[in-house]
Amino acid sequence: MKSIIKENSALYHFVQWAFFPIVLIGTPYLIYLLVGNGSSVALTTYIVAVGVGLLFWLMEWLMPFKKHWNHSHGDIATDLTSGIVAYIILPIFLKPLFIALLAGGTVWLSVQWGGAIWPNDWPVIAQLILLLVIGDAGRYWGHRLAHTVPILWNFHAVHHSTKRLYWWNATRQHPVDKAWFTFTEMLFPVLLGADGIVLSMYFGVTVVCGFSQHCNINLKLGPLYWFFNVVDLHRWHHSKKIGESNNNYGNNLIIFDRLFGTYFHPERQVDPNLHIEEIGLLNPDYPENYLGQLKAPFQKGMDKPQED
Ligand SMILES: [Zn+2]
Repeated sequence: MKSIIKENSALYHFVQWAFFPIVLIGTPYLIYLLVGNGSSVALTTYIVAVGVGLLFWLMEWLMPFKKHWNHSHGDIATDLTSGIVAYIILPIFLKPLFIALLAGGTVWLSVQWGGAIWPNDWPVIAQLILLLVIGDAGRYWGHRLAHTVPILWNFHAVHHSTKRLYWWNATRQHPVDKAWFTFTEMLFPVLLGADGIVLSMYFGVTVVCGFSQHCNINLKLGPLYWFFNVVDLHRWHHSKKIGESNNNYGNNLIIFDRLFGTYFHPERQVDPNLHIEEIGLLNPDYPENYLGQLKAPFQKGMDKPQED
């Protein structure tokens, strides 16, 4: 089966290079326009997220990275359930809980500072960049610890149990893992008092990067790999081999991996023809259904370490 857009055509190459930057800039800008015109923040971000997801789904069929990853591996019900629980139901409880937990720290910091710390008077694009950096600062370590502390790995293994990468399995996460990731990601932004439209725009960027990390689209990033932890970089993070997967921990950005020595990109560092082969966990008996994956972190033997 050939790609729907003819491979090696000018259109194919253009879309390969242009898709990510256009969606990356277009999504938060659309949210900015809609919310600025009075649309509900929560509803706008969810509707835009669904629209962006459907665009990624379409693109996977137009120009797939691996054609067999476009076909169900018996994983759609699990991923769908996981996405609804972790990304729609859980945040309803998590957001107020984290804000309440951190409220004391937020107030204490602003008193020490002598006023609001978050630079609300900055241009919104500068606030967005600051938010991306401080969000990644916490989340980088949250993710790195999830790979190196056994009890955290037991929960994070659910995300790594997928046997193919496609846009929607960005949402395959155990609720405990999701809570840990959200806490480490939002720790500094909440403490510093980030709020309002910039948070919605940040969520838009996170949606684009999350889908770009897992999508089965043959994209090219070039120099953008200096900044964003997406496409090839995250595919290596899903490798079965621990020497490959225990790298590239950033949420949206790759800057902390570069800073702390966990940047791994053999296509650029070693050979452009190297590509990820096997992904997933070493344990062939790891549960594939949602309830089995909910229980797995509490069962002995499920957290079989990955192959070195
Ligand atoms: Zn991971």
